[in-house]
Amino acid sequence: MQTQATSITVVLTQVALEGGGFQIRRAFPVAGLSYFDPILLIDEMGPVTYGPGEGIGAPDHPHRGFETVTYVLDGAMEHEDSHGHRGSLRPGDVQWMTAGAGVIHSEMPAKEIMEHGGRVHGFQIWVNLPQAQKLATPRYQEYASEQLPIVTGPGTWARVIAGELDGRRSPIETTVPTTMVHVKLDAGAHLALPIAAGSNAIVHTIDGSGRVQDTALSDHRVALIANAPATLELTADAGGFEALVLAGMPLNEPVARYGPFVMNTKAEIEQAFRDYQAGRFGEIARTN
Ligand code: MN
Repeated sequence: MQTQATSITVVLTQVALEGGGFQIRRAFPVAGLSYFDPILLIDEMGPVTYGPGEGIGAPDHPHRGFETVTYVLDGAMEHEDSHGHRGSLRPGDVQWMTAGAGVIHSEMPAKEIMEHGGRVHGFQIWVNLPQAQKLATPRYQEYASEQLPIVTGPGTWARVIAGELDGRRSPIETTVPTTMVHVKLDAGAHLALPIAAGSNAIVHTIDGSGRVQDTALSDHRVALIANAPATLELTADAGGFEALVLAGMPLNEPVARYGPFVMNTKAEIEQAFRDYQAGRFGEIARTN
């Protein structure tokens, strides 16, 4: 078997509108890049500061065939779904939702932000599911920041959202082996981050500038590292560097996607529409 070389591509995130019309910056899917196996989407939500009554979220909508991950940096988000899950996410909290066979959910800024305004900043990531688990029973994992390991070193801080670092493991159970780490490096600091060799890795700039291996990253730049090495070498420039790092093993399966559904074939997408329209995803039970 021939070993493929690592390749690093830097993309600039593009501004787009999502849900009820809130602004995001999207690394992909965009024209020319549908997904980076097994990651199907990565959106930076905000940062945006809403005035009173200006908050916009994503009201009731379906998903099937993958997992949605929400990670909050600033502000607060509220979530409820058709399987009776309900939660509120604050800075550093994560929600890992396996849509599987199908959910309908809503994702909105928290009530106090809707009423009084406030800043919202975070990430939404879609992780694909393998064919055998696309119709799995929906599952919901939610952890507060205090429940996620923090690993520090000289000038480095890392929150382990998924996977493991220095023997500290996140409680999140991923279907596809996935690493997700939020890193903050002081000026000139360096962090060697172990990931699964051969995975597809993403380093998404949040603030400041730095390097992954020898590739420079700054404002709105995202490194896509195909066939990643076993260690990502992250180094901050003089202003410090904050980034979200993701790595997942590629599924190497066909991807058929349309909006909120991601399956393996077009026929399965059409079935998803029929099931959704027939009410088979359930509905969100609301008492008011
Ligand atoms: Mn959603």
